[in-house]
Amino acid sequence: MRWATYRAAEGPLVGVVFDDAIHALPPGATLIDLISAGTEALHEAGVRVQHSPHSVVALADVQLMAPIPRPPVVRDCLCFLEHMRNCQVALGRSRELSDVWYRAPAFYFACPSTVIGPYDDVAIAPGSAWPDFELEVGAVIAGGGADLTVEQAEQQIVGYTIFNDWTARDHQMLDTQLSIGQAKGKDSALTLGPFLVTPDELAPYCRDGILDLRATASVNGNVVGTGSTASMDWSFAEVISYASRGVPLYPGEVFGSGTVPTCTLVEHLRVNELASFRGWLHDGDVVTLEVEGLGHIRQTVRASASPVPLTARPRPGAIEPPPRLNRAAARFPFTRGLHAIADRVWAWVLPDGGFGWSNAGLVAGDGQSLLVDTLFDAQLTREMLDALAPITDTAPIRDALITHSNGDHTHGAMLLDPSVRIVAAEATADEIAHDMAPEMMAFFQKADLGPVLTTYARDRFGGFDFGGITARQPEVTFAKEYSLDVGGRRVDIYNLGPAHTGADAVAHVPDVGVLFAGDLMFFGCTPIAWAGPIDNWVAACDAMLTLDPEIVVPGHGPVGDADGIRGVRDYLRFVMEYADSAHRAGHTFLEAADRIDLGEFATWLDAERIVANIYRRYCEIDTETPQLSIVELFTRMAEWLAARTKRQ
Ligand SMILES: [Zn+2]
Repeated sequence: MRWATYRAAEGPLVGVVFDDAIHALPPGATLIDLISAGTEALHEAGVRVQHSPHSVVALADVQLMAPIPRPPVVRDCLCFLEHMRNCQVALGRSRELSDVWYRAPAFYFACPSTVIGPYDDVAIAPGSAWPDFELEVGAVIAGGGADLTVEQAEQQIVGYTIFNDWTARDHQMLDTQLSIGQAKGKDSALTLGPFLVTPDELAPYCRDGILDLRATASVNGNVVGTGSTASMDWSFAEVISYASRGVPLYPGEVFGSGTVPTCTLVEHLRVNELASFRGWLHDGDVVTLEVEGLGHIRQTVRASASPVPLTARPRPGAIEPPPRLNRAAARFPFTRGLHAIADRVWAWVLPDGGFGWSNAGLVAGDGQSLLVDTLFDAQLTREMLDALAPITDTAPIRDALITHSNGDHTHGAMLLDPSVRIVAAEATADEIAHDMAPEMMAFFQKADLGPVLTTYARDRFGGFDFGGITARQPEVTFAKEYSLDVGGRRVDIYNLGPAHTGADAVAHVPDVGVLFAGDLMFFGCTPIAWAGPIDNWVAACDAMLTLDPEIVVPGHGPVGDADGIRGVRDYLRFVMEYADSAHRAGHTFLEAADRIDLGEFATWLDAERIVANIYRRYCEIDTETPQLSIVELFTRMAEWLAARTKRQ
């Protein structure tokens, strides 16, 4: 029998599904009450309602709820050990499970108050950038009291249903570090449905006493994983028996099977290759879970509001990081927000110019404007677009140049009107398409990255919100040069990369001598060569100087002038000369970084980027230099900074 609970004007109604119709019991009946009377009584009630229903409604005409809309207790178990092995691999650990997994079935207490129906929209856990799903099967029990044998436990199972254990993976990373159980990673939603299917109904799928239900999970019609309940290492009866040790079980309690291996996004993650991952769920994604004999559930993911913030507690003994002060000469006050820097040209500036605190700009002509770059997250970008509104109301943004592919310049592009043409160099478009999904940045906010990098990463990236960002692809691409007519004003765009990234565009407004330099320029903070070659970056500095700009807007730091370009060129030459001689002297890049005297560049913010820069130069002069992942590179930078701070 297939039991269903559905919404009706008189409240939730319960019935049995025959063909495509629900034969309903009178209002007031609940599945938990029916289950309480035992398996026999449940069956008899089903037979009765088939012949003399209170009402009959077409399945297609009702809105199904979870068959048990509010279970007294939900335990979610980990019956498929292969799921745990795959998760360990995803997080960069070995496939080998520790002994305890083979000795006792794991479970956690889930949240009955967020149980939802099989076709209900599902809200993303507030503040989560990494929403995920898990395809599971749920077993519902009649009760049975405490201390059940495995055989007695088996007798208590009155039916099965599909169980989606919605999981906020980033919150779960924090739960795991707290080590007292699953909490905010798991409590936002739990789907049960579409029906409660009694065991007799599933007899055709039983092979040698084992239930073999094929399961498939897909997102937007693309299959994510498939498997079968036959591969459970622990049976439902075993976990029910285990859970009943000293604990009475009651009618309507639900046991989740744990994830059918591969039927979740997280198992497809590789933390050491973040760019290879498809990304987590986003607003509008449709998740469909199908299980043979149980039916399917299909739900649309919806964005949710930001969480109410809590203030961190002071940590005894924590060392306050030194105050960050950008000392670069500023042509305009280095204060957050909009600055008019020339006739109908504005810079949007975000102190202090460190990681993610990037600049943008606007050039207005007759009836239209060009935006140069967006910002790291939606909130920052919205703040800027609101501030620009008095200008863009009469001169709307028609084009937006993305100077390079880094998220602090691209993430906000999703907020621009679809009619805005995004312009970028071809290699930038390629990097946006193939780099890691924007929300992967939450890794640096939530993951346990070891004693040194964790603090550093929280400090640098903790203030941004990477949830709900989708990368927007450029509509117009160019190889080396591109000219725009911005309402009668010429703006020349030059790709002077690869240097900072695979392509680095600058925008020159010749009529006022303004140069938007993107991340080829960092003023008062240390440039970082993600891509190189560094000598090409020096050549880019020379090319910018030949434009003879009066005002230079760097990608990070205060608005300056050509002296700023010369300063960056000096730094890059210094890096090359130092790294080359250290390499000749036989030092590793880490030894070279450890020994360096930064001299006049020591006061630039984020001096630890010297590690990445020396590493980049070593890669250029010695192809044998071992490849470092982005996480490893950040770890070396954080360690360098910690060692320098201690020495001072
Ligand atoms: Zn940047």
